[in-house]
Amino acid sequence: MKIIVINCGSSSIKYQLFDMTGPSIMAKGVVEKIGLNGSFIKHESNGKKVTLEGEIIDHQSGIEYMLGILISREHGCIEDFREIDAVGHRVVHGGEKFKSSVLITDEVIAMLEESIRLAPLHNPPNLSGIYAMRSLLPDVPQAGTFDTAFHQSMPDYAYMYAIPYSLYTKYAIRRYGFHGTSHRYVSERAREILQGKPVQKIITCHLGNGASVAAVLDGRSVDTSMGLTPVEGLVMGTRCGDLDPGIMTYVMEREDINRSGINSLINKHSGLLGISGVSSDMRELETAAEQGNERARLALEMFHYRVRKYIGAYAAAMGGVDAVVFTGGIGENSDTSRYEISKGLEFLGLEFDREKNAGVRGQEKIISRDGSRVTAIIIPTNEELMIARDTEQLTMNNK
Ligand code: AMP
Repeated sequence: MKIIVINCGSSSIKYQLFDMTGPSIMAKGVVEKIGLNGSFIKHESNGKKVTLEGEIIDHQSGIEYMLGILISREHGCIEDFREIDAVGHRVVHGGEKFKSSVLITDEVIAMLEESIRLAPLHNPPNLSGIYAMRSLLPDVPQAGTFDTAFHQSMPDYAYMYAIPYSLYTKYAIRRYGFHGTSHRYVSERAREILQGKPVQKIITCHLGNGASVAAVLDGRSVDTSMGLTPVEGLVMGTRCGDLDPGIMTYVMEREDINRSGINSLINKHSGLLGISGVSSDMRELETAAEQGNERARLALEMFHYRVRKYIGAYAAAMGGVDAVVFTGGIGENSDTSRYEISKGLEFLGLEFDREKNAGVRGQEKIISRDGSRVTAIIIPTNEELMIARDTEQLTMNNK
């Protein structure tokens, strides 16, 4: 079965075409700068990478362009669209309606339209991708996989905010959590890799530009650090994470900024960038800190400290921890971050192995000492494969 996985952002479309026997990636790429000057597509298949320019005005034309490349003689890997058996879409916010991936129907689309108010930036481009694929490949089944779905198993006392209950009933204000497909993939993979070791209580740390931690008990998410929106929780590239809500009104008053100003302050000008004034990028911060930049050092320490605090909290929430998983651009690649986060967790039973950890980038590896009661492990995430597998399953069940 051949499945194409699509991830539509506001001005980009990431895609991967899978051959599910294997599974193997037949082609992948990204359409960039949709609706802007200088739009282009970076495409890779058969070991060849190309960048092609073109005027791409919207998601529909981006997907049309990408499909054209997939069947082209020069850069393609299939002869006909009819070879594509199903389409899997990443959808950011599924609200409370979607607890797992679903086949896209008119009813599902109506529910997604409704959930736009919960994710006004993310869900509209996701929907554009669904509409485009439906019109271009009308006979091909499509499925949606939600960033929020894995966390729908959280108990009410973990997902509710302590604000008037009527705000939950009226507006569905509660914690949803994000990166669910990644937390699900790496926790499942950890259970596969660590067969024979205890894996009942797993803490997964997805550390990238956006970052979140999840507590996974018996394969189900029971808590996670992001909330109604992806701003809560960890210190991120440009997002603030946990904050005293009183700060918002105080800053609005003192700085005379409005709602959109405060929104951009907590989403775009905070986090590692806001503290360091240098960059939101971990590599650049590590270099700046090595060169003695004090604020870069502070930003890094705040980042590591916050992750460590969450690991402690989630160990308490689950009554212990068996494994800590590192994933995402930082978790997979920064040996310094993994070490700084893990040091001081010996009291939980995590004996970190600095030698095993040193220099490891983007590969599955246990980085705790042999005999450590808690296993620390790096697992590169693979959300696209998870979406492809869900899509395959749903399509087969529907036959
Ligand atoms: P993501 O959002 O998952 O793509 O992760 C992006 C983050 O990963 C950025 O902060 C990068 O600086 C960081 N990152 C990627 N490679 C490395 C590396 N080799 N060392 C440290 N951080 C890295």
